[in-house]
Amino acid sequence: MSAAPDDAGLGEAVEDATTDDAVKEQLPDTGDIDLAGEAGAAEMVDELARETETPGVTVARMLIVLDIDGTVVLEDESLSPGVVDAVRHAGDTGHEVMIATGRAWESTRGILQALGIAPEFVVCSNGAVVLKRLDADDLRYERWHVETFDASEVLAMLREHIPDARYLVELPDGSRLYTEYLEDWNLASATRVTFEQLAEQPVCRVVVVSPEQGEGDFLELVERIGLHQVSYAVGWTAWLDIAPKGVDKSTGLERVRLELGIEPENVLVIGDGRNDVGMFEWALENGGRAVAMKQGPQEVLDAAGEVTTSVEEGGVAAILHQL
Ligand SMILES: [Mg+2]
Repeated sequence: MSAAPDDAGLGEAVEDATTDDAVKEQLPDTGDIDLAGEAGAAEMVDELARETETPGVTVARMLIVLDIDGTVVLEDESLSPGVVDAVRHAGDTGHEVMIATGRAWESTRGILQALGIAPEFVVCSNGAVVLKRLDADDLRYERWHVETFDASEVLAMLREHIPDARYLVELPDGSRLYTEYLEDWNLASATRVTFEQLAEQPVCRVVVVSPEQGEGDFLELVERIGLHQVSYAVGWTAWLDIAPKGVDKSTGLERVRLELGIEPENVLVIGDGRNDVGMFEWALENGGRAVAMKQGPQEVLDAAGEVTTSVEEGGVAAILHQL
């Protein structure tokens, strides 16, 4: 309960009173204020001390969601300073620390290993895939919720506007198809196909890379052709990432939050990219916290409620150690 002086002016009045009688005069005639005696007060202090010592009693369990690239790891895949210790600290405090990434599961698993966590759920492929833990020791997960869409129309439209683009699609079972070598993308276990074969079945995501297109070119292209039937984000090394309509990290995270039974105001999300804006808005709209990494684009910083230091400077550790 608040003891602010403007609560009926009672606080100030009591402070000004010099005698017991004066205090009584200032108090309401019929009230429910219990004045604890010395012994009672001591007991209350003891009780508070005990509560503070017991984890989980005074700290509400939080759902802490971390993006991977540019948040947990640097461009060379090295870990952000202090992140492993900070994640352990948050876990020891009783919070659920999980990942929501644009990466496919294949390249996410190693990051869980490096962080030393086995969260109950992981959101991959920008929200199109939610995985659920089967076994913590071997980091075995099942594809618990998968969103797909028919990519034929958007692929045809993109081909018309950027004829030299290269493509990769992810299928519901996690396998991947690609048309030509994509720099910066791990294509191990992916299958090379023709452009026509890409959209023969429903997909979870489409990745578009074009050597000729910079980040700005992609943003401009998206604006010009109007990608209305899909969700999209432009990645940090200039690729276009397309998800089913209405799907982003936040849609996967909301399913997870409900499943874990964590209150929306106890959500904390941290990210650095345009594909994090959806989860920033989701967290903020529901009373949670959204933190952007300092090196992100201005529009991403603007969308978050808070900004931490950069990934190189250990921005995630700085936030988690404050909890
Ligand atoms: Mg990122």
